[in-house]
Amino acid sequence: MPHEMPDASPMDAYWMPFTANRQFKRAPRLLVKASGMHYWSDDGRQILDGVAGLWCVNAGHARPKIVQAIQQQAAEMDFAPPFQMAHPKAFELADALTRLMPAGLNRVFFTNSGSESVETALKIALAYHRARGDGTRTRLIGRERGYHGVNFGGISVGGIVGNRKVFGPMLGGVDHLRHTHDPARNAYSVGQPAHGADLADDLERLVALHDASTIAAVIVEPVAGSTGVLVPPTGYLQRLRQICDKHGILLIFDEVITGFGRTGQAFAAHTFGVTPDLMTVAKGLTNGCVPMGAVIARQAIHDTFMSGPEHLIEFPHGYTYSAHPLACAAGLGTLATYADEGLLTRAGELQGYFAESLHTLRGAPHVIDIRNIGLVGGIELASIPGEPGKRAFNVFLDCFERGLLVRTTGDTIALSPPLIIERAQIDQIVGTIADALKRTA
Ligand code: PMP
Repeated sequence: MPHEMPDASPMDAYWMPFTANRQFKRAPRLLVKASGMHYWSDDGRQILDGVAGLWCVNAGHARPKIVQAIQQQAAEMDFAPPFQMAHPKAFELADALTRLMPAGLNRVFFTNSGSESVETALKIALAYHRARGDGTRTRLIGRERGYHGVNFGGISVGGIVGNRKVFGPMLGGVDHLRHTHDPARNAYSVGQPAHGADLADDLERLVALHDASTIAAVIVEPVAGSTGVLVPPTGYLQRLRQICDKHGILLIFDEVITGFGRTGQAFAAHTFGVTPDLMTVAKGLTNGCVPMGAVIARQAIHDTFMSGPEHLIEFPHGYTYSAHPLACAAGLGTLATYADEGLLTRAGELQGYFAESLHTLRGAPHVIDIRNIGLVGGIELASIPGEPGKRAFNVFLDCFERGLLVRTTGDTIALSPPLIIERAQIDQIVGTIADALKRTA
């Protein structure tokens, strides 16, 4: 195709994801360096990282063990084909990962992102039932306000209208549970909200509607991150687990955000005491340094695939970059860093301080709710009428000007700082947001 227009600016070519491109390119925000708890912008300002990059840099930036592991691996072996071939670090990382998992989750399938992990988990669930002769189990169940990445399976089980409506029909045979956000009863809950465990009974209603014999799996984020940090009500995940067990439905936890220490223990499955059948992870697996994700399966699910006739392959799925050597090296460096510094339990140690600090924003201009668990928090603001998301975005811009990176989702300001954060930096985050709220009042 010929050029439609001569290139006007060197910034034209990059079509940015999930971004207001035209607005951004009029006043770009560029990051050029990162270390520990901080970024540096292209105009030389130090920016405190309040969101671990994008919920992923859990050990902080430029950690030596991870940097060295990547450098060494790039020099030693850049790539190895993952189909009918392997390299030692793939086995090492899978083994190390299962040692962090709740008992029973011990088989690892590697991907390159959270979105790919979700597609992979859904496909494992469907193929598992079929392999057991239960091929009528094809329905998938997600949840309103769920985010499971951007591929077609993920947006189908996901519950964000903006990510779905412009792409035509979704995957067929998908239903959604209601979300658990209930500001009328649970506003300003510290940790898990008290009300709403009964919302898990939506699954019983779907079983009554479709019959359990048609339902393959339910997928939820233990804490919904991208739609505003929605912490599950006490007892909700337990109830979902019980209903799944009763009806032979697989339970998938999407721990792309909640994994690797975010909620106070290694995984949200530990924090909430509920073990899923399949878990998706990404982000913190490599500290955000090299793209990588994974699905961790219960052994019985994996073994179902291994007990069939021995053809050339057991599961027709995988990616050119599955278990990429650089990603495996980064993952091993990351898990070593988490272990050396006790980072997977650090959110648990700091969550009291974090919660107390965050909840001082109650009563600040426009604040209508505050939610938190571990080292993840959401501050919800009243929307500007007719302009949803604008108020929080203005706070984001103001914070960035004053040296703090936060994330906004709708009108919620989301915080998920690196787990190496110190108390004084929590104060700085909350103080900067408080000032920004006053300025936008
Ligand atoms: N699942 C969840 C719960 C997520 O939070 C995300 C990303 N924020 C994804 C899936 C998709 O991950 P990725 O952007 O790496 O594809």
